[in-house]
Amino acid sequence: MIVPIILYGSSILRKHSFEVTGDDNPVKLAEDLFDTLKKAAGIGLAAPQAGILKRAFVIDTSPFSDDDNLVPKYEQAFINPEIIGLSANKTYYEEGCLSIPGIFEEVFRPKKITVRYFDINFNLIEEDLDGLKARIFQHEYDHLEGILFIDKLSPLKRKMLAGRLNKVMNS
Ligand code: ZN
Repeated sequence: MIVPIILYGSSILRKHSFEVTGDDNPVKLAEDLFDTLKKAAGIGLAAPQAGILKRAFVIDTSPFSDDDNLVPKYEQAFINPEIIGLSANKTYYEEGCLSIPGIFEEVFRPKKITVRYFDINFNLIEEDLDGLKARIFQHEYDHLEGILFIDKLSPLKRKMLAGRLNKVMNS
């Protein structure tokens, strides 16, 4: 089911999300997030962006993989994800966000991470991610903490974006 994406300015995006428990339906939650992500042609979507304050997000790199065969397709749902290791090595990469349409900025983040999460069947998975996967994971993980990529920009950059952010807020 495609759901409306919550836009910048909503307090929902600033809240801390709750653990997914056995009472939740992670299969349905992941399905809705994947459907909504595909429709929006994005590469990552977190539950709070769908108005659900649960610790879950999905990644689907298809839009990038279609354009560029060098990016292997990666499609995964992450339930109760954790970042358990970060590389000291950091890089800049241009990020955007479906909740902040039209704004793309370089964000500085660790290049590699080690993560732990449950899949939709509650299997515990631990893996090392790098490149695009590590980048999207960190962006989506931040959503579960109420953090947006624009928070990571310099005060000057944020000031320059203020007018455009106000436009998104009032759209
Ligand atoms: Zn985002």
